[in-house]
Amino acid sequence: MEQSELVHSSAKDNSAATMTDINLDRALSRIPHVDKGFIDVLRYPKRVVSVAFPVEMDSGDVQVFKGCRVLHSRILGPGKGGIRYHPDVDLHEASALATLMTWKCALIDVPFGGAKGGVACNPKTLSSAELRRITRRFISELGDNIGPYIDIPSPDLYTGEQTMSWVFDTYDVMHSGSNNRAVVTGKPLSLGGSVGRREATGRGVCYAARHFIGKHMVPGLSSLNGATVAIQGFGNVGAVVAEQMHCMGAKIIALSDSQGGIIDKEGLNLAEVAAYKREHGSLIGLPGTLSTTNEALLEVDCDVLVPAALSHQICAHNAEQIKAKLVLEAANGPITPEGDRILAGKGIQVLPDILANAGGVTVSYFEWVQNLENQQWELDEVNDKLLKKMNRAVDLSVERLKSLTAEEGAHSEDGHAYPLDLRTAALVIALDKLVAVTAQRGIWP
Ligand code: NAD
Repeated sequence: MEQSELVHSSAKDNSAATMTDINLDRALSRIPHVDKGFIDVLRYPKRVVSVAFPVEMDSGDVQVFKGCRVLHSRILGPGKGGIRYHPDVDLHEASALATLMTWKCALIDVPFGGAKGGVACNPKTLSSAELRRITRRFISELGDNIGPYIDIPSPDLYTGEQTMSWVFDTYDVMHSGSNNRAVVTGKPLSLGGSVGRREATGRGVCYAARHFIGKHMVPGLSSLNGATVAIQGFGNVGAVVAEQMHCMGAKIIALSDSQGGIIDKEGLNLAEVAAYKREHGSLIGLPGTLSTTNEALLEVDCDVLVPAALSHQICAHNAEQIKAKLVLEAANGPITPEGDRILAGKGIQVLPDILANAGGVTVSYFEWVQNLENQQWELDEVNDKLLKKMNRAVDLSVERLKSLTAEEGAHSEDGHAYPLDLRTAALVIALDKLVAVTAQRGIWP
């Protein structure tokens, strides 16, 4: 079903979509020379698919689920983006997140466009068999709207290797006789997954942070070695960030999951944290730690704050209370534009999501390449290539920030509602690339 118009007009009421629009306008205000028509191409998703389907539950009852898949852009290549299972999944949120994926792929330089989707459900209340039936039915409803050269899903909130295995298997059954492994990434190794994919987003966050700090971009923080770190979210991304930061010499002093957080100023023992979470399903109550709320965790006195769970966590309401020197957007959209403005006023540096968490899509791209070529790379090769991509994107973003700042110096800062920051610089790089490629390809017919 083509619903681009519908999505764009009602998106104004949705905060994720509004944030995407505001951030796009922030970047455009710094590059007024760009062709407006070419930018308008990027304001609308290319294709929106909305589905509703019945699933037989374990109880024997039939329940209807709603799902969607948004392909924002195919300018650089097939769509790429997560499938999430969460009660808040809807077209507007998926549309905004798909747009973010387009910027991310352009910035990190992988040949994909942005996509996103998922099913509105609460996975915590569903059995494994119910999740399998939901996944199979969802993928069969999407039909040929996904495919190795069309749109390639990957894991996201509350989906992981198991979900991706079901996605692959369903598509493979529907398209027998071909090598279909490249239809989805984030698969287990035994099904053509890439070594290093599970850790890629968290590892990429840490690589980017280390390189950024090493360029003396964070006042008062010269290294991750010895830095204190607070992380919101202890899922795929948050847990790996904790582990990698620890390996880089940082001290993890606060962690949280959906039920709340724990603090130990002396540094948490990550093995104990993981074992306690496995046994109790929550971090709260780990002996020797103080319990805290998710809101209070963000305001902990630390060097580096890593929101690695949900969007809109740092906003007008709480940004003034943030004490970190550097915020790493491991999650998508955790800081609102108003939050950005307040953090910038306080001199707090932010590594934006399209840069900080681009490691996931980067190694997804490596997995896709390996699948198409029937190759299996070594972990060192994957991590080395990831490191180069992350460092290059940091270098480009910092250089662009400096050149935009120098241009601003020549004119006046007046008239800009938001500060010139790394998010704007990174987005300007992505937009420049997308506009240039659109012009090279030419508008059809
Ligand atoms: P996940 O499902 O593995 O983990 C999510 C974590 O967030 C869990 O620990 C959960 O308990 C916690 N959480 C849920 N609600 C919370 C709340 N209200 N307050 C605090 N914590 C809460 O998901 P993930 O793959 O780690 O993804 C986390 C974020 O990173 C998402 O925003 C996702 O879009 C983004 N992201 C993920 C990837 C990837 O490769 N997985 C790539 C790029 C971006």
